[in-house]
Amino acid sequence: MTEIEQIEKVILDEKNKTFLILFHINPDGDAIGGALALKFLLERHFNKTVFVYSNNAVPEKYKFLPASESINHDKNLPKSDVTIVLESANIARTGYSAEDLDTKFLINIDHHQTNDFYADINWVESSRAAVSEMLYLLYKGLGKNIDKDAAVGLYVGILTDTGRFQYSNMKPEIYDILKELVNIGVDINFVYRNVYGRKAKTYISFIKSLLDDMEFYCDGKLAISYIDEKTIDEFNISVDDMDGAADYMRDIENVEVSVFIKPNEPGVYKFSLRSKGKIELDKLASSFSGGGHKFAAGFELETDNILDAKNIVLPKVIEVVK
Ligand code: 5GP
Repeated sequence: MTEIEQIEKVILDEKNKTFLILFHINPDGDAIGGALALKFLLERHFNKTVFVYSNNAVPEKYKFLPASESINHDKNLPKSDVTIVLESANIARTGYSAEDLDTKFLINIDHHQTNDFYADINWVESSRAAVSEMLYLLYKGLGKNIDKDAAVGLYVGILTDTGRFQYSNMKPEIYDILKELVNIGVDINFVYRNVYGRKAKTYISFIKSLLDDMEFYCDGKLAISYIDEKTIDEFNISVDDMDGAADYMRDIENVEVSVFIKPNEPGVYKFSLRSKGKIELDKLASSFSGGGHKFAAGFELETDNILDAKNIVLPKVIEVVK
């Protein structure tokens, strides 16, 4: 049986009435868009009761997605028959601990290189551009129509996880999926304006600080920068402002690898690693207990301050880049 057939069996089982959808902390467009498309599949085509949980608030730029307001931030949700975890290497990455999770059946759907295969069904395919591509295939496999609300979620997932259709995970067949989603009614311009075209004024302060602190190593092949707690407070910089910082540095001429560091919670720093495509970064991220893809990966590090975090990691990155 394929994973889609196994998932179909679980969905068709009348005893499975309540579903919980989880995704990784600090969710991106693929996590949120994909989760909402999956929610519509289960609710509208199979009459299931569905809860979506996010550890963090939905970023402003994804609030236009239909039903984004239904995403819960409270862990005290009713017990679920089935939990479906999207885009997460392990349960802890969702912000839910394995003990908190009270469910009879667990399904893991992911397109990351690094995944612990922790569920009853593990559908993990790192060749897929986005989890939203996999959920599109789930709709097709189950023979269900994608409605406009679901199409927008899937489109946003693919748009954001392929870096606006330009990363190496783009494949010709993705354009066929996009064509279908646009024909269903996705408004490309409206989506773009929401996701990328609404930078706050504080974004300018962020970019200024990012550039002020940027350093180059390895003959300009490595760019590294950070934002500290003081600057975030002083300029009221939001999580949205910081989005895409590592991509911004990666796109500089001669840079092969970029590293962006930001505070996550007191004493915990989040690293975002990006590569233009020659140097692989997933193993480096795994060596710090993180993960991701070959050319876009990340991890967290506990240290006293952000400069310590940078000084611990920098020699290891230089080792990989030089
Ligand atoms: P970003 O830098 O955009 O947060 O993440 C880049 C990629 O690495 C994403 O696919 C993301 O899921 C993955 N990633 C980032 N941080 C972590 C982490 O702490 N653990 C794991 N397993 N993956 C991560």
